[in-house]
Amino acid sequence: MTNNTIAAISTPLGPGGIGIVRISGPGAYPIMKRLFVRKNQDFNSIDKRDTGDRFTSHRVYYGHLFDPGSENRLDEVLAIYMKAPKSFTREDVVEFHSHSGFVVLDRILSAVVDAGATLAGPGAFSKRAFLSGRIDLTQAEAVIDLINAPCETAVQMANSQVAGEFREVLEGITARITTLQAACEASIEFSDSVDDGGLLLNVLNSLKTSFVPVISELIQREKETAIFKEGLLLAIAGVPNVGKSSLLNRLVDKETAIVSEVPGTTRDIVREYFSIKGVPVIICDTAGIHNTSDPVECIGIQKARDHFNQADMVLLVIEGTRRLNDFEEKLVDEFKHARMIAVINKDDLADEDAIFDIQKQIKGISNIRVSAKTGTGMSALKELIFKDLVSGKTRVKHEGATPNLRQRKILEKILQELLRGDNAAETEQAIVNVSELLNTILNLLNEILGDRKKEDLYDNIFSQFCVGK
Ligand code: GDP
Repeated sequence: MTNNTIAAISTPLGPGGIGIVRISGPGAYPIMKRLFVRKNQDFNSIDKRDTGDRFTSHRVYYGHLFDPGSENRLDEVLAIYMKAPKSFTREDVVEFHSHSGFVVLDRILSAVVDAGATLAGPGAFSKRAFLSGRIDLTQAEAVIDLINAPCETAVQMANSQVAGEFREVLEGITARITTLQAACEASIEFSDSVDDGGLLLNVLNSLKTSFVPVISELIQREKETAIFKEGLLLAIAGVPNVGKSSLLNRLVDKETAIVSEVPGTTRDIVREYFSIKGVPVIICDTAGIHNTSDPVECIGIQKARDHFNQADMVLLVIEGTRRLNDFEEKLVDEFKHARMIAVINKDDLADEDAIFDIQKQIKGISNIRVSAKTGTGMSALKELIFKDLVSGKTRVKHEGATPNLRQRKILEKILQELLRGDNAAETEQAIVNVSELLNTILNLLNEILGDRKKEDLYDNIFSQFCVGK
C-alpha cells in the first residue's frame, strides 16, 4: 500500500453550487486538523499540531478553511473525516465541500498540497480502492462506465457491476475450475494411490457442458448491450431547406438547430442527444448538401460527408411536395449502400402525385412520411430507426452480469481454450495437459478480476478515470 497522501478536486470544474476537494492517505486527518476550524472557533487559538481526535469519523462539520501559510480564510465549508478502513479507499479520507468555482477550489487544493498532500492523477482514488481490496477490477471499471453512462439503462447495467454481480459469476467459475484443477494435480502427484478412472473425461465434459455455455452467454451479453453504452450515431442529410433542422428539433424535442427559410443556415455540425426505447442516440444535423462555390459552405458540406461515413444510419430528408431533383437522386444513389431511411418531410403540404413519384425514385429504400412542423410521424420514425438498427440484435433485459469490451476479449480467449480441450485417451500426459489448460484459464480469469500484485498493468484502465475519482 502506498504511504503518501493524495488530493484532488473531485467535482467537475466550473461555476456550480458545491465543489469537493478529496484527500486520501495517512496525512488526510492531520491536514483537516491544520486547515479546518469549526464555527465559532478562532483559527489562532487552535493547536494545529494537535494529535488528539478533534473530529469524529463520518460526521459532517460546518466551519471555515484557512490557508496555513497566510492564515487567510479560504472558504466556508462542510468537512467530513472518514476514518480508515470505512472509506472508499480504505484509507483515512477527508472531504471539504466548498463553494464551487475554479479559483475557490484551486486555492483550497493548493493549501491542502502546502499542508503535505500530493496531487492525485486520474483514477488515483479508485486505484487505491482496488489495491486495498475494497473493489476488484470489474467493479473499478464499472465505476468508469457509471460515470460515462449515457442513458438510464447503461446506469442500471453499471450499477449491477459496481455491486459485484459480474465478479460473483467469475468467482463462481474460478472456484469450480480450481476444484477441477486440484483433482488433476492430485491425480498427477499421487497417480498410484488416487483412482483417476474417468477423471479426464469428467473434466473435459464439464468444461464443455457447463463452462462453454456460461462463457458464451457472457460474451453474447456484451455484444447485445454495448449499444446502451456506446449509443447510436445518426446523421441527417439532405439538400438545403427540406426541413433537416426542423426534424432534429422535433426528435430531440427542443429548439437546438436554427430553422430558417434562408437556405444554408446550418454550416457547422449540430449535435444533440435523445433516446429511443432506452437506447442513447447522438444525432447530427449537417449542412445542406448542394453544389456551391461558397468556401464556408464547402467546408460544412465536407464535414457533413465525413459524418455520413461514420454514422450508424443516415436520415435522408426530402420534401413530400415535389419529386426529387437530379441532385437528390444522386444522393439516394450515394447513400443506398449505407443504412438509410428516406424521411419524406412536410407531409402537411404533401402532394400525392409527388409522393407517388418519390416512392418510385427512392426505389424501395426504407422510408416514412412525417411533418417536422406538426410532429406527425415522429413516433413511427423512431420505431423504424429502432427496428432497422436495434431490434433483434439487442436484448431487452439488461439486468445481470455484463462484461465490458476488455473483459469480453479475455472471455473470448477463455472460450478458445475451453474448446481446445479435446477428448484424448486417459493417459497421464493428457491429464497434465488438461491441468495446464485449466491453469491458463485461471490466469485469464484472474486478468479480468485484476491481480493486485501486478499494479502497473492496470494504469491504463485507471487513467481512463477523471482526476478526483
Ligand atoms: P433545413 O435547411 O433543411 O435545415 O430546413 P429547416 O429546418 O431550416 O426548414 C426550412 C423551412 O421549411 C423552414 O421555413 C421550416 O419552417 C419549414 N419546414 C420544415 N419542416 C416543415 C414541415 O414539416 N412542414 C412545413 N409546412 N414546413 C416545414
